[in-house]
Amino acid sequence: HAKARHRGRAQLFDAAMHASVLERLELEADLRVAIARGGFEIHYQPLVELQGGELRGFEALVRWRHPARGLLGPCAFIPLAEETGLIVAIDRWVLRAACAEVASWPQPAGRPPVSLGVNLTATHLHSPDVVQEVQSALQASGLAPERLMLELTENVLLSDTAASAQTLRELRGLGLRLALDDFGTGYSSLGYLREFPISDLKVDRSFVTNLGQDGAATELARMVAVLGRTLGLATVAEGVETPEHYAQVRELGYTLAQGYHIGRPLPAEQARALALQEAPLVPPG
Ligand code: C2E
Ligand code: MG
Ligand code: MG
Ligand code: MG
Repeated sequence: HAKARHRGRAQLFDAAMHASVLERLELEADLRVAIARGGFEIHYQPLVELQGGELRGFEALVRWRHPARGLLGPCAFIPLAEETGLIVAIDRWVLRAACAEVASWPQPAGRPPVSLGVNLTATHLHSPDVVQEVQSALQASGLAPERLMLELTENVLLSDTAASAQTLRELRGLGLRLALDDFGTGYSSLGYLREFPISDLKVDRSFVTNLGQDGAATELARMVAVLGRTLGLATVAEGVETPEHYAQVRELGYTLAQGYHIGRPLPAEQARALALQEAPLVPPG
């Protein structure tokens, strides 16, 4: 009996494995169709400067409008896209589409044009044509290079250090900004900040979420702000969800803030309307 029971469990396990392998294959096939036929959208999340609460820019965040599953966030497909290498095609599309979109928005007089943050994965950064692709996206859209900020995670810098540094120097040479995203959660050493031409530190939202509650998180968030000032880098606090978070990151001296308290990621038309608004996004208090 024990043997039969064991066989039953094994079959059950096989069936579950089979189903998940099928689901994965199906998702991968759907992903290829979406890449070929344009099944993605970009939502834009606002960033404000912490002195006056004025809008300074947006981060482009990709979504997949899946025919059966609805609107999917990145965590539902980016891991698979990375494993299959399809991420490079997605990132390329996001880069070109977001540059074109934001460059087309009218700018209200009397403040700098909004910046655009675009996420770049390791595979894309290490692909041979990345510098030329970025240059081409800027040229095709007419977006001024200084308005573009490419966001990389620290882990991108771990492999192939010399080649990465060279690529990043070439990218900076185009006149754009480079941010370390989710800063504080990766494995990079502080030495990397000297080696790589980074302009912005985006402190991970886990430090911001726990501000004032977890002493270590608060001290780390403070250290990142100090590090930014010391090295002359702009600092961005992500995951600002409450007025308390906002007041705290301002107190700590962060340059910019992003998070649900300031605004959710928005479809292009709504983001465009926000970019036209004259009043500060967060009223100075
Ligand atoms: P990220 O670059 O760190 O982007 C910030 C994420 O935090 C976004 O999630 C955003 O919606 C979310 N977020 C913003 N404010 C708050 C807040 O106040 N509270 C909380 N709890 N969350 C907040 P999203 O859109 O799900 O994107 C997740 C990640 O997917 C991004 O993290 C980024 O690493 C990746 N991603 C998004 N778009 C792209 C893309 O076009 N290419 C690549 N390679 N990765 C992308
Ligand atoms: Mg990002
Ligand atoms: Mg981030
Ligand atoms: Mg993040």
